Amino acid sequence: MIPFVDLKAQYLSVKDEIDAAIAEVLESCQFVLGDKVEAFESDFAGYCQTKYAVGVNSGTSALHLALLAAGLKPGDEVITVSYTFVASVAAIRYTGARPVLVDIDPRSCTMNPALLEKAITSRTKAIMPVHLYGSCADMDPILEIARRHNLIVIEDAAQAHGAEYKGNRAGSIGDLACFSFYPGKNLGAFGEGGAVVTNDGKYAEVIGRLRDHGQSQKYHHDAVGYNYRMEGMQGAVLGVKLRHLDDWNAARRRHAANYRELLADTGLRLLDEMPSNRSVHHIFPVFTPQRDNLVEHLKTRGVATGIHYPIPVHQQSGYRDLGYKLGDFPNTEKASSEVLSLPMYAELSSEAVREVSDSIREFCLQVAETHR
Ligand SMILES: *Cc1c(COP(=O)(O)O)cnc(C)c1O
Repeated sequence: MIPFVDLKAQYLSVKDEIDAAIAEVLESCQFVLGDKVEAFESDFAGYCQTKYAVGVNSGTSALHLALLAAGLKPGDEVITVSYTFVASVAAIRYTGARPVLVDIDPRSCTMNPALLEKAITSRTKAIMPVHLYGSCADMDPILEIARRHNLIVIEDAAQAHGAEYKGNRAGSIGDLACFSFYPGKNLGAFGEGGAVVTNDGKYAEVIGRLRDHGQSQKYHHDAVGYNYRMEGMQGAVLGVKLRHLDDWNAARRRHAANYRELLADTGLRLLDEMPSNRSVHHIFPVFTPQRDNLVEHLKTRGVATGIHYPIPVHQQSGYRDLGYKLGDFPNTEKASSEVLSLPMYAELSSEAVREVSDSIREFCLQVAETHR
């Protein structure tokens, strides 16, 4: 059996360090925020090449607070993509602002900057590109358009810890950036977690207060805030794991290179490798109209897969009132129907990558046979 992810393997590889850090939290009883969270915030800001990081209790909370700090209010508009995890769009709705969706570039599966200008109105306040699958969106044209229209750029970097765009770390490119530390992400907590990073001290201060009920000093509440605080345990675990993240991302990059080589002549579509991008391969997607059959075939060979994501946000029933319909985002809809995520995690062996690739090759040959 080759699992899709293996959280246990990662825990065992750093068990002594993690257990010691958790024991310190138990000893100090700093269960919410505290020293471990502060130390992680400082380390993570450094890692992201930003001045500030504010730890919160999920990536969704990070997005919500980044949008509030950017001043989003009911009636405003934020441009993002439909081809993302639903949280990107949910967070916009929490502020009362309207999510305006655009299609992706099928070669990268990230926001197509050529569609932005047409989506901008007098109400547009921000653009939220999503660094999907571990690769940054094409940020230069997005930033250029944002500057020209005076819009705030919020990176959804929930899948891109350590990714680089033209030598700059994901998180350091826009005005604010949001990360998730959900257990399966490249940097994962032992529970929920998230962070906002920024170079703007005012944003960091506002977000630091909003995550803690708008508190400036104990029991002084300057705004209606939220209980979005990061737990001490998560800060401790993340602090340990951050020291290993570059090694883990390097392993993912090796697996991705092996997949690319082994799958080159199968006829499956892979994402383009962009010279501007250093991907951290949160997900390794392949694309085929035979997706559902390939899933079944791989299951019989003991290979687990995922689909990220089978239903784009504009087709979700909970988001019907946005007014979009089938056909509005052709590249998004096509990618959703064809995408399949292969096993991808640092501890994956090169034998496993070969086995998965062999099973895929076997499937592709069968398909070619039946079409002859
Ligand atoms: C995981 C994820 C989120 C949400 O993060 P949570 O920690 O699960 O709240 C947001 N956006 C994207 C693109 C994600 O992958």
